[in-house]
Amino acid sequence: MQKSDKNLLDINNLDISFIQARGAAHALRGIDLTIASGEILALVGESGSGKTVTSMSIMGLVPIPPARINKGSLLFKGNDLIGQPHAEMRKLRGKEIAMIFQEPAKYLNPSLKIGEQITEMLVLHLNMSKKQAVEKALEYLDVVGLGKSRRVLNSYPHELSGGMKQRVMIAMAICCNPSLLIADEPTTALDVTLQLQILKLIRNLKKQFSMGVLFISHNLGIVREIADRISVIYAGKIVESASNQNLFEDTLHPYTRALLQSIPDAEKRGHRLRAIPGSVPDAENIPSGCGFHPRCPLAQDMCSQEIPLTKDYGNGHSAACHMVH
Ligand code: SF4
Repeated sequence: MQKSDKNLLDINNLDISFIQARGAAHALRGIDLTIASGEILALVGESGSGKTVTSMSIMGLVPIPPARINKGSLLFKGNDLIGQPHAEMRKLRGKEIAMIFQEPAKYLNPSLKIGEQITEMLVLHLNMSKKQAVEKALEYLDVVGLGKSRRVLNSYPHELSGGMKQRVMIAMAICCNPSLLIADEPTTALDVTLQLQILKLIRNLKKQFSMGVLFISHNLGIVREIADRISVIYAGKIVESASNQNLFEDTLHPYTRALLQSIPDAEKRGHRLRAIPGSVPDAENIPSGCGFHPRCPLAQDMCSQEIPLTKDYGNGHSAACHMVH
């Protein structure tokens, strides 16, 4: 088992394919990511770019087969999660690594009261008595802004609003005090006011509990509000990584630039937003050379022939593009 004490999460050259009857789908093509405790790393890209496979592989939820880990490591607190037995991963999930999702209604059990769902986690992972678990559940409802509400504990999911359900799901995710929180598009289904409240809540939780957070989104505008660092993923490859400020002030990669130009902005009112032409390639059919070349306004002949190497441009800012000098 490989050891590294530097980061909470350290993904090195992780490369995953899905083997199907019609051929292999290359979902992740050697990605590198790190997250330190107390840091929010955002992973941004369009649907189908590899964000979900990344989060599912950290949770140990990528089924092998049909998935195959071609190479790489996924170190959590220095221990490689790849190849860990299911029983070990079950112990980590929920307790050490927790996840919140886009649509809480899908993940909350409609037939169980909220209190039963939160206390179940505490009894299972922290061996609490039922009474202790109820007290703790009330504390965490308070932390996520719902107050120490017995009414919420005694409600079924359908009796709560969308924003309350998302807060409940966050309470469930953090109640065992995880070191790493994965937030998969947690605000996409919410209206703008609620989005801002949930982003603020996640930022406060990161500080309060010193958690590392992997924040997954397709929206650079949202990510700008919350992330310390940002990695942009395209066709299973990280194409640019930088601090929040550097990514927006000194954008290097044409794909990141295209994502930025598609963000709605009050100043662009009355102007058409620029959509990125074409679509993300299927993982079975990734273009040769730079995977972005069929959509890239700067593409040259070499772009379809040679895969660009990821280069470091200083201050932790890296990009993989032939045309960045
Ligand atoms: Fe565009 Fe070429 Fe850079 Fe790829 S390598 S992003 S195609 S300029």
